[in-house]
Amino acid sequence: MLELPNAVIYQLKITLRGISPLIWRRLLVRAETSILAEAKTVLERMQQRLVEQQATEYLQAQRRCPHCGNKRSHKGAHTITLRTLFGKLRLKSPQLYHCQC
Ligand SMILES: [Zn+2]
Repeated sequence: MLELPNAVIYQLKITLRGISPLIWRRLLVRAETSILAEAKTVLERMQQRLVEQQATEYLQAQRRCPHCGNKRSHKGAHTITLRTLFGKLRLKSPQLYHCQC
């Protein structure tokens, strides 16, 4: 806990367990802040980070043809929006050509 002249600030460390690599955030929260509202904001940010990481790993696996292993050509990209309990997530969505094998 930090004490500023007119406010009491708590320092929180929030960790998502059961995933690798470890994702955590350290926050400073005013004592009078609604912990529920703060938790929703934190979960929204952590969800964005986690989903971005999962999407990146998935897309890396899709870059090569699963049959012959050749690198697939890029034909464009757009952004997709996912609506979740914690808010909207915007993710890059590249389009890849099918392999000719
Ligand atoms: Zn192929």
